[in-house]
Amino acid sequence: MVMTLPLPSLRVAAFRGFRLLCPHCGQARLFTRYLKPVETCGHCGADYSDIRADDGPAWLTVLCLGPFLAPLAFGVAVSGWPAMITYPVLAVAIIGAVLLLLPRMKGVVIGVLHVSRLGK
Ligand SMILES: [Zn+2]
Repeated sequence: MVMTLPLPSLRVAAFRGFRLLCPHCGQARLFTRYLKPVETCGHCGADYSDIRADDGPAWLTVLCLGPFLAPLAFGVAVSGWPAMITYPVLAVAIIGAVLLLLPRMKGVVIGVLHVSRLGK
C-alpha cells in the first residue's frame, strides 16, 4: 500500500525515527533487525534503500552518552567502592545504554536524511 503523505517536518521525522518508526508516516517499523532498516516502508511506501547513515548514529550515541557516562565512570573509579562489583555493573550499564540508544540514533539520522533528501 503506497500512500501519498505530506513530508513531515525535520523534528517530527527525527522523533519518529527515535521511536524506531518510519520517519515519513510514523506507523510502521523502521528496522527489520537491530540496525537493519527496511528498504521501503510497509505502510506508506517511503523508500529508505539509498539512505546510508554511516558513522552518524555512533557519533550521536557517543555525544549523548559521553557527558553522563564519563563522569559516572570517573566517580565510580575514585569512590573507593570494591572494583570487583562496581566495574562489571558499570560495564553492563554502559553497554546497555549504548545498545539501547544506538538504533534510536540511527532512526534519527535516517529521519533527518529522509526529510532533507526529499525536501529539496
Ligand atoms: Zn511509512
